[in-house]
Amino acid sequence: MSDSDPLRRYKEKRDFAGTPEPSPEVEERGGEPIFVVQKHDASNLHYDLRIESGGVLKSWAVPKGPSMDPKVRRLAVPTEDHPMAYADFEGVIPEGHYGAGTVIVWDQGTYHNTKGEDASLEENLDEGHATLWLEGTKLRGGFALIRTGGGKKPRWLFFKMKGDEARPGSDVLAEMPNSVKTGRSLVEVAEQEEPADLSDFV
Ligand code: MN
Repeated sequence: MSDSDPLRRYKEKRDFAGTPEPSPEVEERGGEPIFVVQKHDASNLHYDLRIESGGVLKSWAVPKGPSMDPKVRRLAVPTEDHPMAYADFEGVIPEGHYGAGTVIVWDQGTYHNTKGEDASLEENLDEGHATLWLEGTKLRGGFALIRTGGGKKPRWLFFKMKGDEARPGSDVLAEMPNSVKTGRSLVEVAEQEEPADLSDFV
């Protein structure tokens, strides 16, 4: 597999015989681009922001989760690109596997690049400055993703921009904690999708 494969790192980190996560396929699709935020109860609870670009989901781990309050700027740490199919993934990554823990689809929707119809999100991200209009169920309106500092471990800030749809003082994480896909909580998914004990079949 060549280094130009954007999902090489995704593939290297996972054993697809043991995790229910989607296989690493790049998928150029038409229509409005999508975003997803997954709530992931791994060693530390965090939120994974994923944005469609170039046939994959560009990804950031947001330890404290997104906010609809423009005063709240959240650290976002870049992680490996994920396949498009990951946008619908909800389930339990078994113990011993990368990212072990429960995942729910906390929010999902489409977005457009507010730098204009001809703007390239890929270029904006390379430059470290992207602005998106999100049309999710929970996250709506203008958001910014800004790279801060350089070095080997870039950090980004993810935050609501002022104006339409902003909700100062709100706590969207507490108000709407469950899956936008199934309505389930992390605990319900963990109980209902207990990974099969493969040793029973050996
Ligand atoms: Mn995660």
